Amino acid sequence: MKAGVIHGDGIGPEITDAALTVIAATGVPLEWQPIEVGLTALARHGHALPPAAVAQLRALPATLKAPLIVNKMEGRIACLQPDGTDLAYPSLNNALRRELSLFVNPRPIRGFPGISGRYDALDIVIMREITEDVYIGLETHQGDDSAEAIKRITREASVRVAKFSFDYARRHGRRRVTCLHKANVLNYTDGLFLRCCREVAADYPDLVFDDLMIDAACYTIVREPARFDVVVCPNQYGDIFSDLAAGLAGSLGLAPGANLGFKTATFEASHGAAPDLAGRALANPIALVLSGAMLLEHLGYANQARNIWNATRGVLADADRLTPDLGGTGKTWQLAEAIAERVASFNPAKEAS
Ligand code: NAD
Repeated sequence: MKAGVIHGDGIGPEITDAALTVIAATGVPLEWQPIEVGLTALARHGHALPPAAVAQLRALPATLKAPLIVNKMEGRIACLQPDGTDLAYPSLNNALRRELSLFVNPRPIRGFPGISGRYDALDIVIMREITEDVYIGLETHQGDDSAEAIKRITREASVRVAKFSFDYARRHGRRRVTCLHKANVLNYTDGLFLRCCREVAADYPDLVFDDLMIDAACYTIVREPARFDVVVCPNQYGDIFSDLAAGLAGSLGLAPGANLGFKTATFEASHGAAPDLAGRALANPIALVLSGAMLLEHLGYANQARNIWNATRGVLADADRLTPDLGGTGKTWQLAEAIAERVASFNPAKEAS
């Protein structure tokens, strides 16, 4: 089976090598197809997301994607459409998600005993809507001193992400879905999102549904992490809330994720390209390794995916070759080897070969 791989920018290439090492240890025979996106594509093709890369990504069932660098205040990007027009997006990652019609970004964030302290029982999945909200790119400025952005929320996108979240909760034996919003201020936009979630919830009487304002949710997850199970929210709140949850779990380097659509999917860490760590083998590869596990599960290799999660738990519990963000002195590739060795030990055929 073919799968794509985007090696990314900054720490991207190092953590990609690490993730591929761990996935190889599962014995799943994937044929990786490299796809140039980001700084490499810009240098070689004059565009960070060339139409050929979009076509390659659309034709593959799944792609492992490392983080990409997007410069502050100059992230806007235009992508050529089949009818010859250009569509403008606010950033490269947004363009990638929307060009591939990906609509939900599930980010499972778990605490790990020995690493996460009072948050070691944290176990939430954040379902971030990724097609709209203030990230649609409709921003204008009036001279130097005034600017505005449009926040778009539609029934179609809100119901779609809500249904996905409730179905996911049912499939995974989870009990509660919580909608995060700011509907006391954004009456029409977040109000619509909340209303859609409530309507969908009525079809899932076996699950508890409730909602919290995003500011209260930030306070509550710090004080009472077990309060959360599955969380569904508009684009921007999901972006921010997942970094907060990852910080509580102990490191951004522990938070994997996926971007799912009906035809294809990408799998990426919640964190960015960490230019401060790039090229120094200091980055924690676990978030991308676990994103790789999510990719395997998506492609039907649930046992192998579970092996990666279990191997990672073991390595963290034994503090085996941990990277500096987790208090260790291990290098990126050493932590990957520690996980890969355990994965291979669950898989005797691979070990013997
Ligand atoms: P970042 O997530 O790259 O880094 C934030 C902090 O977390 C930094 O201190 C960094 O060293 C640390 N960190 C991140 N990943 C880590 C890891 N694996 N191991 C250990 N520490 C880690 O966020 P930023 O600094 O705001 O952004 C850097 C670049 O990444 C920007 O160009 C931004 O646009 C881009 N970015 C890309 C994505 C993506 O491709 N999905 C997501 C977020 C940011």
